Amino acid sequence: HTKHMGRNGYHFFQPSMNTLAQTQLQLMNDLWLATERKEFRLVYQPKFQAPAGPIIGFEALLRWQHPKRGMLSPDIFLPLAEKTGLIVPLGNWVIDEACRQLSEWREQGNIDWSVAVNLSTLQFEQPSLVQTIMDSLQKHGVPPDTLILEVTETTAMTNPDESVRVLTELTDAGVQASIDDFGTGYSSLLYLKRLPACELKIDRAFVRELSSDGDDATIVSAIIALAKTLNLKVVAEGVETAEQQAFLTELGCNTLQGYLLGRPVTPEIISSQGNTLCQQEPVF
Ligand code: C2E
Ligand code: MG
Ligand code: MG
Ligand code: MG
Repeated sequence: HTKHMGRNGYHFFQPSMNTLAQTQLQLMNDLWLATERKEFRLVYQPKFQAPAGPIIGFEALLRWQHPKRGMLSPDIFLPLAEKTGLIVPLGNWVIDEACRQLSEWREQGNIDWSVAVNLSTLQFEQPSLVQTIMDSLQKHGVPPDTLILEVTETTAMTNPDESVRVLTELTDAGVQASIDDFGTGYSSLLYLKRLPACELKIDRAFVRELSSDGDDATIVSAIIALAKTLNLKVVAEGVETAEQQAFLTELGCNTLQGYLLGRPVTPEIISSQGNTLCQQEPVF
């Protein structure tokens, strides 16, 4: 029967298909087109030296300016981009665009700023990753130590020996490495010690409960103590209240990031506000 059905022998979108699946399929179609149509953007969230500045750099965060659905967060499209492999070329674009932005900021005199880029597991596993990064740095004339690669604890521990090898290669070339979402994965302390990272980012989940939940205060103190033992700087993500800011600073956290101090914003906003960037209205 199949050969008699021809090209239009059946319809992929059956009326019975549930709306969620349809939305996902539509999203997958759009996602492939989005690269060509240049619909991806990077917004930048400032990182502050504790307790309140100066800004030491930014984390680049991916957004998709969808023609119909507006500005989409990574939660909506990253899992799909991972599944389809699109995350590899997309992630390479992120690295290159972040390096371009860094060089622009440096030309404007902000030579102390670093930019952190998030790497997905699939991207981290690409044999060409190191070369891709070095090529972008060179192309934009950016010093390697101004680029920070954020790898989640879970990604780093998926294949720990390989992670140590790749991160060693990158840090030997001068690039910095950061362990993201720390506390949510299962780290082997032996591997953690071998990872040539310069900082550890405490997951937002622990910061969120900081002022109301005694257990998390204990956990955060323990993470900071561990980081200090391993000679790592500590970044707290998701700082939303003055209480959290004060407490994290008191515990010895080096860097703070969160809506209290600065939301992710466009490079245009950063250029127009520079170092006074504080407590802006939500943009994304
Ligand atoms: P992440 O790397 O842990 O980034 C922190 C996330 O928390 C960002 O969400 C940021 O906007 C949000 N955030 C920052 N401060 C606060 C706060 O005070 N309160 C709250 N509630 N949230 C805060 P976003 O931009 O939606 O990104 C989500 C995740 O998507 C990131 O988590 C990262 O894992 C991933 N991601 C973002 N951009 C990229 C990218 O270019 N490549 C890859 N592979 N992953 C990316
Ligand atoms: Mg991150
Ligand atoms: Mg994080
Ligand atoms: Mg996270």
